[in-house]
Amino acid sequence: MDETGEASYAGQPFEVIVVGGGFAGTAAAINLARANRTVCLIDAGEPRNRNSDHMHGVIGLDGESPRELLSRGHSECLAYGGTLVEGRVSSLQRTAAEGWSVELESGERVTGSQVLVATGITDRLPQVPGLREMWGQRVFHCPYCHGYEVNGKSIGVVGGENPGFTTRISTLLTKWADSVTLHVNGMDLTTEQRDRLLDCGVQLSYDEVVQVSPDPTESLAVEMVTASGAVRYGTCFTGPEFLPNDHLLRQAGCAVADGWVQTAGGKTSEPGLWAVGNVVSSPDQVSQALGSGAGVAIAIDQYLFDRG
Ligand SMILES: Cc1cc2nc3c(=O)[nH]c(=O)nc-3n(C[C@H](O)[C@H](O)[C@H](O)COP(=O)(O)OP(=O)(O)OC[C@H]3O[C@@H](n4cnc5c(N)ncnc54)[C@H](O)[C@@H]3O)c2cc1C
Repeated sequence: MDETGEASYAGQPFEVIVVGGGFAGTAAAINLARANRTVCLIDAGEPRNRNSDHMHGVIGLDGESPRELLSRGHSECLAYGGTLVEGRVSSLQRTAAEGWSVELESGERVTGSQVLVATGITDRLPQVPGLREMWGQRVFHCPYCHGYEVNGKSIGVVGGENPGFTTRISTLLTKWADSVTLHVNGMDLTTEQRDRLLDCGVQLSYDEVVQVSPDPTESLAVEMVTASGAVRYGTCFTGPEFLPNDHLLRQAGCAVADGWVQTAGGKTSEPGLWAVGNVVSSPDQVSQALGSGAGVAIAIDQYLFDRG
């Protein structure tokens, strides 16, 4: 930043500003920097899986710390000539047909031609005390990220505001678990969902869970307190609501359908504005976020090349 609070590249606007330095945004920034594009990566430092010490399903990096991988990625981006700004973007203003001024909460500004938004999603957990505190440590949502680690255990699933997803993971978890018990917790299940759960061998409990606590005798185990007493499980899953961090895209006027900002090859409906990763695709895991970030970087580079 200069003394006016504006970041630029040798006095010129950046060719690309990437908002969000998680897996998708960092992969994009590295690939843009390697394509000799001037790139500014702005990151608030709160990737979705920040509470997990270990990440799974990423080849060559299985079991590694997500924070460590992102820290290496940020260093690599800097080494290729990228600029890294720590902070949270509060607004985007269009300055030209394809030109943007990006303002941070600190009041700092960054200007650029193209903006790529990779701000991820927020997982809204059921309002049960203890879930948030153990999120990513003993409370999980994704069988493909943590199912293998709970092979053969008893799993308690806490219901919430996302019955479709919660039903789906409860049934899938029977592939790994010794037993799966879904605490319905007020969820309004359809007959079809209930039948599917029972067909897959999921036990339904109507004892409302009022507190979840760690069981210190085993690494992933929890105790759930219900109106009828305490139950112990080998671990806990739950179905959050997935809320995309897409207010910047919506403010800029991007087209939305079924609650999600629409993209084609990373392009939004607004010229010069791109989006990638969980902010536009909630099921993406780390490998997909890395891949789609790299892919959209190439699309942006070629777009700029062809535009001249
Ligand atoms: C508990 C948990 C465990 C998981 N474990 C695994 C696993 O083992 N394996 C796996 O493959 N996947 C796992 N995932 C999924 C993984 O976290 C996501 O796939 C991945 O984080 C998506 O990458 P992303 O870049 O889209 O978003 P994120 O990684 O969430 O990055 C978004 C970034 O944007 C920043 N940001 C947001 N708003 C702003 C703003 N306004 N200004 C600036 N920066 C902003 C955030 O601070 C963050 O750094 C897990 C998810 C959870 C919730």
